[in-house]
Amino acid sequence: MKKVGMQICRLAERTVLRTGGFCFLYRVENINQLASVVARFGKFYCLGNGSNVVISDSGVSLPVIRLAGDFGKIRFEGNNVIAGAGVPLSFLIAECAKRSLDGIQNLFGIPATVGGAVYKNAAAFGVSFGEKVKWANVFRAGRLRKISGGEIGFGYRKSSFLKSDVITEVCLELKEERREFIEAEMRKIKLERIKKGFIAAHGTGCVFENPKGYFAGKLIEEIGCGSLRRGGVSVSENHANVFSTSRSFLAKDVFLLSEEIKKRVFDAWGVFLKNLIEFWGNLI
Ligand SMILES: Cc1cc2nc3c(=O)[nH]c(=O)nc-3n(C[C@H](O)[C@H](O)[C@H](O)COP(=O)(O)OP(=O)(O)OC[C@H]3O[C@@H](n4cnc5c(N)ncnc54)[C@H](O)[C@@H]3O)c2cc1C
Repeated sequence: MKKVGMQICRLAERTVLRTGGFCFLYRVENINQLASVVARFGKFYCLGNGSNVVISDSGVSLPVIRLAGDFGKIRFEGNNVIAGAGVPLSFLIAECAKRSLDGIQNLFGIPATVGGAVYKNAAAFGVSFGEKVKWANVFRAGRLRKISGGEIGFGYRKSSFLKSDVITEVCLELKEERREFIEAEMRKIKLERIKKGFIAAHGTGCVFENPKGYFAGKLIEEIGCGSLRRGGVSVSENHANVFSTSRSFLAKDVFLLSEEIKKRVFDAWGVFLKNLIEFWGNLI
C-alpha cells in the first residue's frame, strides 16, 4: 500500500477562509489509507474546502485529514451522479450541467467540497444538497457503511453525521433538463451571489444560524452592529450576517467579533445567536 502523505503545513494556505496555523495534514487517497489514519489517531479533524471553519492562528494539535485521489472522482449512472467527497461542489455542478442533469445548479458558487456540502446540508436559493442525496458512503467505527438519504437526518445547515464520521462518497438523484436551461440558471445564480457579496476571498458565508422566526442579519443590523469590526474583520456592508475580511486578519478577530455580536444581540433582543461557522482549536 502506498504510504499516506503527511505534511506539516499552515492551514491558512489550504482553506477558503484563510485561517489556521500549523498542523499535521494527512492527505488520504483511498479507503485503505483513510482506515489506517483513523485507526492510528482515533480523533482527528476532517477538512473539506475550509469554507465554514475558522481555525486557530496557533494551529491545531489533532491531525487533519484531507480527501484526495479516489475521493476526487465522479461517475454517472443514468440520472444519478456518484461523487467522491473531495470533489469541489461547483465542479460537480458544471459536470452535471454538461450531461443535462438538473437539480443542484442553485448551489453553484458555494465554495464547498461534496463532503462539506453533505455534512452541512449546504443550501441556497431554495435548494438544499441533502434533498438530492440518494445514499452516502461513510467511514464510521472502522468500516465503510452505506446510508440511504432517507436515513440521514438533514436539517437547517446540518446533518445527522457524527463528528467522527468521514463521508467518502455521495450519490445524488437528479432529473433530465436541457443543458442550456441549467447553464442559464448557473449564470443567474452567479450574478446573484456577486450582487449579494457571497463570494469567497472577500469573507465568510453566514456566521450565525437564523433563530426561529428571525433573521440573524436583521437582529444585528437593527441594533447598529452593522459597522462593528475587530482587527481585520468587520460586519459586511451587504449582509450583516456575513463578515468581511481584510488582507491580513486573524482567526481570533472572527471569534471576538462573533462573541461581541452574540452578547449585544442577547442584551438587546434576549435572543441567543448560535454559530453556523465552526471554530477549531484555541481561538484566544
Ligand atoms: C463566500 C462563502 C459563501 C457561502 N455561501 C453559502 C451558501 O450559500 N449556502 C451554504 O449552505 N453555505 C455557504 N457557505 C458556507 C460553506 O461553504 C458551507 O457550509 C459548505 O458546505 C462547507 O463545505 P467545505 O467543504 O468547505 O467544508 P469545511 O468548511 O471544510 O468543513 C465544514 C464541516 O464539514 C465537515 N466535513 C467536511 N468534509 C467532510 C467529510 N468528507 N466527511 C465528514 N465531515 C466533513 C468538517 O469536519 C466540518 O465539520 C459559504 C461560505 C463562504 C466562505
